Amino acid sequence: MVHVDGQPLGIPSVRCGGLGRADERYMLLPRGKRGPGWWGLLKLTDKGLVLREVKYGETSRILTVFTQNHGILSVSAKGSLNPKSKLFSASGLYSYSEWVLREGRKTYFADEAAPIEVFFGLRERVESLYLAAYIAELAQMLSPVGEESARILRLTLNSLYMLSHHKKDPALVKAVYEMRALAESGFMPGLLACEECGKYEGGPFHFSAASGTLLCGSCAEKREIMCNLNEGALAALRHIVLSDDDKLYSFTLGKEGLGCLGVASEQYALHHLHTPPRSLVPLQMILNGETKDR
Ligand SMILES: [Zn+2]
Repeated sequence: MVHVDGQPLGIPSVRCGGLGRADERYMLLPRGKRGPGWWGLLKLTDKGLVLREVKYGETSRILTVFTQNHGILSVSAKGSLNPKSKLFSASGLYSYSEWVLREGRKTYFADEAAPIEVFFGLRERVESLYLAAYIAELAQMLSPVGEESARILRLTLNSLYMLSHHKKDPALVKAVYEMRALAESGFMPGLLACEECGKYEGGPFHFSAASGTLLCGSCAEKREIMCNLNEGALAALRHIVLSDDDKLYSFTLGKEGLGCLGVASEQYALHHLHTPPRSLVPLQMILNGETKDR
């Protein structure tokens, strides 16, 4: 096999639009395995998380894979439901794996996959499974590309880890994911201070889902608007949007603050998405029945 950095030898650049990154490896298939046209020639390796699976035939699946460097791809995993398949353990829903993919005309084909993390713990609690489905749907709706893709994939993996290992309340993970994913996707709210008087903190504030801005208690009162954030929720909102990745989940919030934060983040997400995620209502029903402070 011939390994070429950036772009395969002899492949017209138009075929590689958007895929050219220095850390990728492209390979030419051995001469005997080349299909007709250029599409059959390209292979790529990338790490990716399975967001969705649709079964077809007896043992095959079409997967939606959130990759680190190539955004969200549709991947055919032939025979992957057969326990003897080399794809079996790495291609399940919410598996994070190292993939070797072959580019086809309409979809990619999984040639090899090795599991890195399979998030078994998600299956232990029903609210974790419903929230994982919601997170997966949000990721697909935001459909990040380029550097945004790597950042939102990292957020998604961190959030699934918190759920899988029961480290954080699912209601908190939901709020963190909504706010951070939107902020990483270009919908950065203006949380510095009251947009009217510049007050930074103290007492309740109003957060506008439509404009993503803050009003302090007295400015909100002058406009006859109800405050919707207590002090804890405001601090948490700022932390979620501004903290480094490795500190993202390093905070706690009381029940009342989490309630405020949850409403604010959900309204912010719904305002900026074109349509409400289908998985939201079932998730709300589960969380409203079972959420507790952990
Ligand atoms: Zn003010």
